[in-house]
Amino acid sequence: MIRCDVAVIGAGPGGYVAGIRAAQLGAKTVVVERWELGGVCLNTGCIPTKTLIHTAELYRKLQRADRFGIQVDSVRLDMPALLKHKNKVVKANRSGVAALFKSHGIEVIRGDARVTAPGVVKVDSEEVQAKSIIIATGGAPAEIAGLETNGKTVIGSTEALEMTEVPERVAVVGAGVLGSEFACIWNAFGAKVTLIEMMPHVLPNEDAELTKRLTGIFKKRGIDVRTNTHVAKLDTTDSGVRLEIEGPKQDAVNADLVLVGIGLKCNSEVVTETPGLGVATGARGSIVVNERMETTAPGIYAIGDVINKTWTAHGASAEGRVAAANAAGRDEKMDYRVVPTCNFTSPEVASVGRTESQAREAGIDVKVGRFGYLASGRAHAIGETEGLVKIVGDTATDEVVGVHIMGAEAGELIAAAAMAMAMEATVEEMAHTIQAHPTLAETLKDAAEDYFGMGIHTPAR
Ligand SMILES: Cc1cc2nc3c(=O)[nH]c(=O)nc-3n(C[C@H](O)[C@H](O)[C@H](O)COP(=O)(O)OP(=O)(O)OC[C@H]3O[C@@H](n4cnc5c(N)ncnc54)[C@H](O)[C@@H]3O)c2cc1C
Repeated sequence: MIRCDVAVIGAGPGGYVAGIRAAQLGAKTVVVERWELGGVCLNTGCIPTKTLIHTAELYRKLQRADRFGIQVDSVRLDMPALLKHKNKVVKANRSGVAALFKSHGIEVIRGDARVTAPGVVKVDSEEVQAKSIIIATGGAPAEIAGLETNGKTVIGSTEALEMTEVPERVAVVGAGVLGSEFACIWNAFGAKVTLIEMMPHVLPNEDAELTKRLTGIFKKRGIDVRTNTHVAKLDTTDSGVRLEIEGPKQDAVNADLVLVGIGLKCNSEVVTETPGLGVATGARGSIVVNERMETTAPGIYAIGDVINKTWTAHGASAEGRVAAANAAGRDEKMDYRVVPTCNFTSPEVASVGRTESQAREAGIDVKVGRFGYLASGRAHAIGETEGLVKIVGDTATDEVVGVHIMGAEAGELIAAAAMAMAMEATVEEMAHTIQAHPTLAETLKDAAEDYFGMGIHTPAR
């Protein structure tokens, strides 16, 4: 039997961060993991997809390198080499987590854990007794009736990351972040991509003005985007898959491969299989928590995808820091006001805070400043002029309530906006912040000036 102060179940970006923070605060910490250190994010999520996306962007740029004065005679994609590179990146990051655990004196136990009683975690025949338990078991794709995956012609993102060949014709069901990112990867690699989405635009959770433009860009790049459309029937045929769809365009979609990018469930069996534990669950099997990340059972915390909140790695890590601090005797609360997101589509869409319409629905009277990449010198220099920055401010105070960016490097630019919002900056303060020239960051300043009708690079109204 192992005794510790904090037992963390799951070593994804929620669990490994919680484990390290607990150890930093002096807690004897044990982390249990049944699969690979780093969880979904590091092994089959954020890191491998972004490795593929980097290659996709590079490939796209090389194909039009003549625009930039480089004649490239032959550009050829080498999928086996790309997979080798991806696996190397994943392995390096995984070793990084193992080294951090070691340096913080964290014991790692391999195996499938169950919380069998308050303060007790069972891992096969091993028992861990802990003063506090942090559940960080993540989530997984949920099977959707009629769209069940078979690992060959109907697949999920994990299989998509292992493909050694680019499919000729691929249908992607769901234009959320996962589906849209893969649609962009395969489009860049030369596949004929059909992207099917029930909502009116791709990335339905993002600002509609941006995603309407993004839908147009996807179409211009040759992606057959079918919005307001749903799959009525999926049949596997000798030559692949046939999808009957209902939407404005009714013709069936024939593809070699279908990626299902919809449906999620929480891995809460770690507590739900123990009767009488007292951990309440909600939608998608999620574990219910308060702002201190406490579940309804004393001494048990939950963080990350298993609580069905942000479904992001950085959200899970932020929750992990809060849970670890509280488990170590501090008193911290999770603040969801500033949690940026980035969709690594081509171009990227990143945001923080409320959209214009969300703010209005919440009863905030807002004003918007806009700036297009078309007026940015830097955007022209790098050949990335399709982009728009929107700053949403509270008319009463001019405090920034949201920033939304579609365009090259949006994911990097959103950092400045997140910092501004964390510091409760006003749009005026963003307008007064001097940005280096020529950078894409200047678009933030320009959008802030436009909010006041004072944009130097905006035509007079
Ligand atoms: C294709 C894809 C791309 C993504 N891209 C991004 C991105 O760019 N940016 C971003 O922020 N997010 C991205 N995400 C989402 C991100 O991966 C998740 O939000 C993040 O991994 C959640 O972290 P977590 O720690 O809650 O759970 P996980 O990363 O899922 O980790 C949970 C860990 O718990 C372990 N576990 C589960 N049950 C048990 C048990 N009973 N006993 C022992 N161990 C257990 C699992 O094996 C796993 O390792 C992506 C996801 C996917 C699928």
